[in-house]
Amino acid sequence: MSVEPKLDTSPYVSDEVRKTTCYMCACRCGIDVHLRDGKVRYIEGNRDHPVNRGVLCAKGSAGIMQHYSPARLRKPLVRVGERGKGEFREIEWDEALSLATDWLSAVRKTDPRKLAFFTGRDQSQSLTGWWAQQFGTPNYAAHGGFCSVNMAAGGIYTFGGSFWEFGAPDWERTELFMLFGVAEDHASNPIKLGLSRLKERGVKIVGVNPVRTGYNAIADEWVGVTPGTDGLFILALVHELLKVGKVDLDYLIRYTNAPWLLVEDEGASDHGLFARDESGEPLVFDRKRACLARASETGVKPALRGEVKLADGRSARPVFELLARKYLAQDYSPEAVAERTGVPAEQIRRIAAELARCAFEREIVIDQPWTDMKGERHEKMIGRPVSFHAMRGISAHSNGFQTCRALHVLQILLGSIDCPGGYRFKPPYPKPVAAQLKPHGRAAPMQPLDGPHLGFPEGPEELLLEDDGRTAQRLDKAFSWDAPLAAHGLLHMVITNAHARDPYGIDVLFLFMANMAWNSSMNTSGVIKMLEAKDQNGDYVIPKIIYSDAYASEMTAYADLILPDTTYLERYDCISLLDRPISEPDKLSDAIRWPVTQLDRDVRGFQSVLLDLGARLKLPGMTAADGSPAFRDYADYLVNHERKPGVGPLAGWRGEDGRSVGRGAPNPGQLQAYIENGGFFETEIPLEAQFFKHANKAWQDWAVRMGLQEKPFPCVFQLYLEPLRKFQLAAEGKREPQPPESHRSRIMAAFDPLPIWYEPLEHETAGADFPLHAITQRPAAMYHSWGSQNAWLRQIHGRNALFAPPEACDAAGVEDGDWVWVISPHGRIRVQIKRMLAQNKRTLWTWNGIGKRAGAWALSPDAPESRQGFLLNHLIHELLPPKGDGMRWSNSDPITGQAAWFDLRVRIEKAVEQDDNVSEPQFPPQKNPTGPTPDMLRYGQEWTS
Ligand code: SF4
Repeated sequence: MSVEPKLDTSPYVSDEVRKTTCYMCACRCGIDVHLRDGKVRYIEGNRDHPVNRGVLCAKGSAGIMQHYSPARLRKPLVRVGERGKGEFREIEWDEALSLATDWLSAVRKTDPRKLAFFTGRDQSQSLTGWWAQQFGTPNYAAHGGFCSVNMAAGGIYTFGGSFWEFGAPDWERTELFMLFGVAEDHASNPIKLGLSRLKERGVKIVGVNPVRTGYNAIADEWVGVTPGTDGLFILALVHELLKVGKVDLDYLIRYTNAPWLLVEDEGASDHGLFARDESGEPLVFDRKRACLARASETGVKPALRGEVKLADGRSARPVFELLARKYLAQDYSPEAVAERTGVPAEQIRRIAAELARCAFEREIVIDQPWTDMKGERHEKMIGRPVSFHAMRGISAHSNGFQTCRALHVLQILLGSIDCPGGYRFKPPYPKPVAAQLKPHGRAAPMQPLDGPHLGFPEGPEELLLEDDGRTAQRLDKAFSWDAPLAAHGLLHMVITNAHARDPYGIDVLFLFMANMAWNSSMNTSGVIKMLEAKDQNGDYVIPKIIYSDAYASEMTAYADLILPDTTYLERYDCISLLDRPISEPDKLSDAIRWPVTQLDRDVRGFQSVLLDLGARLKLPGMTAADGSPAFRDYADYLVNHERKPGVGPLAGWRGEDGRSVGRGAPNPGQLQAYIENGGFFETEIPLEAQFFKHANKAWQDWAVRMGLQEKPFPCVFQLYLEPLRKFQLAAEGKREPQPPESHRSRIMAAFDPLPIWYEPLEHETAGADFPLHAITQRPAAMYHSWGSQNAWLRQIHGRNALFAPPEACDAAGVEDGDWVWVISPHGRIRVQIKRMLAQNKRTLWTWNGIGKRAGAWALSPDAPESRQGFLLNHLIHELLPPKGDGMRWSNSDPITGQAAWFDLRVRIEKAVEQDDNVSEPQFPPQKNPTGPTPDMLRYGQEWTS
């Protein structure tokens, strides 16, 4: 089907107003796009939209200049010069799609693994993942592995949720809010709305971040923690709470594995695993009857401490006893961690006391009866009004998974998950690991993959390994011994491994909006060389590169074939519950984008192109029985694709008459219904189902009715993560399959089933030569590399500087405005210094994504972004320095493979040359494939040069 939108014309302004969804960052706010004579005149926030309720940020309103950016690609291009030179020939779509089909079908017929299909900040992963699965390659993921997978995986494994898209603080009821490591990245407008609500209510905000900018600048208390030590700080808070007995024992017994018994049998293959009955149910010790009982049994009163004899005579102890013993150790006392974290012991102790006071003395009671999954009725909902939020700052470290777990353990000990005033799940969460997918990686010619790519393994037996038990099935080595719980893949290792042909070479690299030749890669200069590298026959080591994007980024110059995408105002798109949802804690929501402007170039929406390629390749599900395309375009797919009967990409207005929600037959009028409703759908969760969703029968039943899950999935919070213990047992040689010898010690050290802190891996080798930490933050006005093509946003950040604390400046003898060399174990860059007081005294930082390669993004070759701007990426290697063990380990978390961007250690030296005002390294300018670069851009003239 094809959808002809009926247009909504506002009666009270002269402009025509069309309501759609912003894509100037990942928040997906609702926007009203004002048009006159087919041109975009103005963008404002949609006051009815659940995400932003009318609030619009600088990026959102500057979308108009993005839409008319001179960097927009205009037509399919095929490379004619050498890679990297930016020399292309324009071709027609038929030729472009035939070429892509020829390249891809040759791979599919012989070895589908030879296609690596990775996407960047893709908001259509349920389509792109399904396409890759039907193609049959195991090599698919989006950008999560280099973004914040530790946060997502740490949360899912611990409590079936996480922050941002998975859940949010109860902004209306919380009484104390702690923000960890968050710059203005994920959840931009929603966080701003929430913080302003807290300010209105006089609620204390504590910001924990090495740098006091943005949200941290408006915090009531700032904790200037040293990068990579957040876990230690959090576990010191846990130490203090346990010491004074301020943990919610009733909550722990009801909702967590705190009372579950752990086998104590040193040397046995189940030492440290849960004691289970013959049906596999975890056991507890029932104090009431003084006997073993199933943890799920109604009416048991489980013990939280004490040695217990199992039926086979062996000993066992409850998780809580081990937990308390571990964190009450002096290693986690405020005094023991103060120097390393940079947080005074007194401040740690006071914050712990404030958390305890708020959680237990300001308890919230809502008179709303509800029934739990054991059938027990509760007359009230009891809340602990402390809440937390965190994202990349604490997760982009090689100890990030354990740090994220530590934060969730703190939340759970306080009893503040999905209760009034605490953290609240957003639909479709919670989803415990048992309800999540498992990863699949077996490929065969002309066959779909044996299942979805990404998932949550629960032990070594679920890794994606070849029959030798050690070779990774995936190119990025996700779900191998290198990164066993790599739930989002490792995009940052794809080009390196393809270039090294380790574990194998590829024929086609297919990327969608992933700027891997610049700011999305570690070791940018090295990755550029890999993209250009040729073998002894003169052929490219990565033979073919297909790239799709709307704009001429640094990456386009390295493509052999460019499939130009539309801007976000020119295509259908979907913010789906199957993908990355936008629900609120009390509402289930999804949304669309639709073409609010007409195309003026020969470009096509990438998702429609992907479906077209799928039909040409005759992929299952994308081809009808008569061999014709199953879907005319992405709009047709959004309406008619069913992931399971009655469940498709959009939850609203389902059923032939459009009256069903969640489940229902495809409705030909569905997209029009979204357009008429302002581009989004929302439905209220019944009050009885709004809290304690992990254990709430009303929620579980509602979630099944809505098609969010096929059956009730109660979620027991995992303070102790048994899958990690299984990996340790394998490394100890007690369980099959076993890791190679080279991996054993690091698995035994890092895979502790209770959260631990360990020194970030790069710090182990950096030593005294590199005493400073160096990190980046995303500015509020930019979204990674996209912002610098935008004429309005460039006026806010046209270049970046390296912000340095006075202590570091004085030690190096540099003044404000001096040029310095920043030197890491991997390389050196030359940048300008700005002195700044409000930051950790051992930390340097800069804005992310401002520095550009000359000529890219249709900027003039002497633009300040390239002449003075810079990237820290040149200092960060994707591999750790050699440690003498014969290995070059990936610069990633050893558990999830998360890129450890923020582990970087450096020193600074005053540059001898102070007067040429140019950063280093500089690269030869790229040729702009979109035509001559305009000398000046102005609203109204932006589409002419
Ligand atoms: S936060 Fe700003 S840029 Fe991001 S989606 Fe919302 S309005 Fe757009």
